[in-house]
Amino acid sequence: MTSTGAPKLTVIGTGYLGATHAICMAVLGFEVLGVDVDEAKISKLAAGEVPFFEPGLPELLTKALESGRLRFGTSFEEAAAFGDVHFLCVGTPQMPGSDACDLTYLDAAVRGLAPHLERRALVVGKSTVPVGTAARLTTLVQELAPAGTDVELAWNPEFLREGYAVDDTLRPDRLVFGVASEWADQQLTAAFKPILDQGTPVIRTDLATAELVKVAANSFLATKISYINAMAEVCEAVGADIKDLADSLALDDRIGGKFLKPGLGFGGGCLPKDIRAFAHRAEEIGVGQAVSFLREVDDINRRRRARTVDLVRELLGGQISGRRIAAWGAAFKPNSDDIRDAPALDVARTMHGLGGHVRVYDPAALDNARRAYPELRYGESALDAAEDADVVVLLTEWSEFREIDPDALAQVVRHKRIVDGRHALDADQWRAAGWEYRALGRS
Ligand code: NAD
Repeated sequence: MTSTGAPKLTVIGTGYLGATHAICMAVLGFEVLGVDVDEAKISKLAAGEVPFFEPGLPELLTKALESGRLRFGTSFEEAAAFGDVHFLCVGTPQMPGSDACDLTYLDAAVRGLAPHLERRALVVGKSTVPVGTAARLTTLVQELAPAGTDVELAWNPEFLREGYAVDDTLRPDRLVFGVASEWADQQLTAAFKPILDQGTPVIRTDLATAELVKVAANSFLATKISYINAMAEVCEAVGADIKDLADSLALDDRIGGKFLKPGLGFGGGCLPKDIRAFAHRAEEIGVGQAVSFLREVDDINRRRRARTVDLVRELLGGQISGRRIAAWGAAFKPNSDDIRDAPALDVARTMHGLGGHVRVYDPAALDNARRAYPELRYGESALDAAEDADVVVLLTEWSEFREIDPDALAQVVRHKRIVDGRHALDADQWRAAGWEYRALGRS
């Protein structure tokens, strides 16, 4: 504890979630130590460089380091000696060859930290996990920690969105505290005091509910996206217009327009793996039928990627092989450089596999894409990628792409054909400029 009574915090795992959490907590006034096994990442953060794209975060990192309240390191021993509250923020990806969640990183973090916990402390899971993980980790922590049952475990699921991570961390819609004791609740309350003082609603509940809140939220969002994309499939079959349909539904207060945008569907490091892990876990505990619809949600989502390739093929007269294709977008969504399970790159790679000469451009994710998929070609700008293109395919709805002038683009392409995978462009404007415009779910 500091002299003001505020707990000292550690953040184990300093990726998209952990780095943001560590930086924001230091900005809010806490003393914070960020720990990761990735030495290169820790060196960058310690030197004031955010190792990923997140608007507003670099400025806050500078501020936090200057305050002297934020440090980074790789020692669990140091973390255990320093911290009163330890946030676990390591990755929980999909297990290779299975839909299950891979908990090896989380287990390794606990096994790294717990043997050094010699005094009373709270370990708080923030990673997204299958229900039941917190109960298992409580046993593991208490077995391994010299302080035994003086070390408690809590779960505080994280809801931040990449691209808005700073605001979501400093001003969250709600906090969820999954706690097993009054003491754990007091520690979490102290660790989030500045945020609670803003009047942020907090739900205090048990560990299992806290774990479930996160996967339930992501399942709902994924379902909403796949719902409107299922409607797009129907629209395509009957020549109806998904954009008008979605706009009409969005005006219904009971439905709302958020996550009701038709298009290429969801991707990223959370939604796809979280719905699969949820379905898998539900089957393990005998309630698979309750969430079996998530398999359908996933299938609808995957079909959008295939259908986008079909649209490109149709616009090219049935042939992708040998054609020049500009692929705009690589990140799974705008304002991020995250390419995990990115629909844009999936589509680009499929078209490349079909013999297309694909050239990708993304405002933030080019380096990550180049590293992951060196077989693809890359442009230095949207217009550069579109040089001599037979078709342009918009795959991630960066505002940079929305703002492109159809006449300026017409100067560089070979054919004025565009597939708008995200309903990001004004179809009438592009058609008026002489473009063949196609979008999923629109005739
Ligand atoms: P990430 O891959 O960016 O970061 C994970 C970090 O954990 C990496 O830096 C990795 O080096 C580190 N790590 C792995 N093993 C470790 C160990 N044993 N000890 C210490 N560090 C270790 O992942 P992320 O996107 O930050 O996601 C982390 C968790 O948060 C996941 O469970 C994810 O589902 C959840 N989450 C992510 C977001 C998001 O927008 N990215 C939002 C909410 C929840």
